[in-house]
Amino acid sequence: MKPFEGKVAIVTGAARGIGRAIAERLACDGADVVICDLQAEWLAETAEAIRSAGRQALPLAVDVGDGESVAACVAEAVKAFGRVDVMVNNAGITKDTLLVRMTDEAWDDVLRVNLKGTFLFTRAVAKHMMKQRGGAIVNIASVIGLIGNAGQCNYAASKAGVIALTKSTAKELAGRGVRVNAIAPGFISSKMTDALSQEIREQMLANIPLARFGEPEDIAKAVAFLASEEASYVTGQVLSVNGGMVM
Ligand code: NAD
Repeated sequence: MKPFEGKVAIVTGAARGIGRAIAERLACDGADVVICDLQAEWLAETAEAIRSAGRQALPLAVDVGDGESVAACVAEAVKAFGRVDVMVNNAGITKDTLLVRMTDEAWDDVLRVNLKGTFLFTRAVAKHMMKQRGGAIVNIASVIGLIGNAGQCNYAASKAGVIALTKSTAKELAGRGVRVNAIAPGFISSKMTDALSQEIREQMLANIPLARFGEPEDIAKAVAFLASEEASYVTGQVLSVNGGMVM
C-alpha cells in the first residue's frame, strides 16, 4: 500500500517549481491533492500529472494572503474529499533589495504571502485535523530564515517567522495528533533562482559541499517523509535540505 493511499493533501503554490514537484510526489505516493495557486489555469499541468498518477486533483485559485480565499479553499477541499490529512505551505515570493532601499510595500508583500499565508492555512486546516485527531503540516521555510542574507531582510524575516510559527503550532497541536514541521531548502533550481546572476550562482555553488544545486524533487522527497507515518515521532523540527551549504 502506498504511504498516502486514502489521504488528502493541500499544496499551495503548486503551479510550478517546488510546489508542483511536491504535489506530484504526494499523488504518486497515493494522495488526492488540492492544488492552489493565484490562478487556476496555471495549475493545468500539475493537475494533469496528478491525474496521470491515478489520483484526483482539485485545482483552486487561492491567494494565500487573503483569509477569505484560504477559508473558501479549505471548505471546498473538505466538501470534495471529506478530510484534510496533509497541508504543505509552499507558496512564497521574494522582493529583494538592501534594507535602506526597501519600501514598506516590499516588506508587507513578502510577509503577507510567506508568513501570513502560512498562518492562515495552518489555522484553517488545524480545525479539521484536530477533529480528525491526526494530520501533518509541512511549511517550506528557507536556509535564509536560519542564517539571514544581505538584500533579503524581508524574506529572511518571513522565513524565520515561518520557523517560529512551525514550532509554536507544533506545541499547540501535538496533543491532538497533528504534527507540524518545516523544511529549510538551500539553493533549489527554479524560476525563483533562475533570476539570479551567473556570478551569484557560481559563488553559491562554490559553497555547496555536494557540489550541485538542489532540484524541486529533493524537497518533495523530504516533504513526503515528514508528512508520512515514517515521521510519526517528528514534530516542531526544521529539516535542512541544502547539499551541506549550512551545517
Ligand atoms: P516559484 O516562484 O517557482 O513558485 C512559487 C509559486 O507560488 C508560484 O506558482 C506562484 O504563483 C505561487 N504564489 C505566489 N504568491 C502566491 C499567493 N499569494 N497565493 C498563492 N500562490 C502564490 O518558487 P519556488 O522556488 O518553487 O519556491 C517555493 C517555495 O520554496 C517558496 O516558499 C520559497 O520561498 C521556498 N524556497 C525556495 C528556494 C529556491 O532555491 N528555489 C530556496 C529556499 C526556499
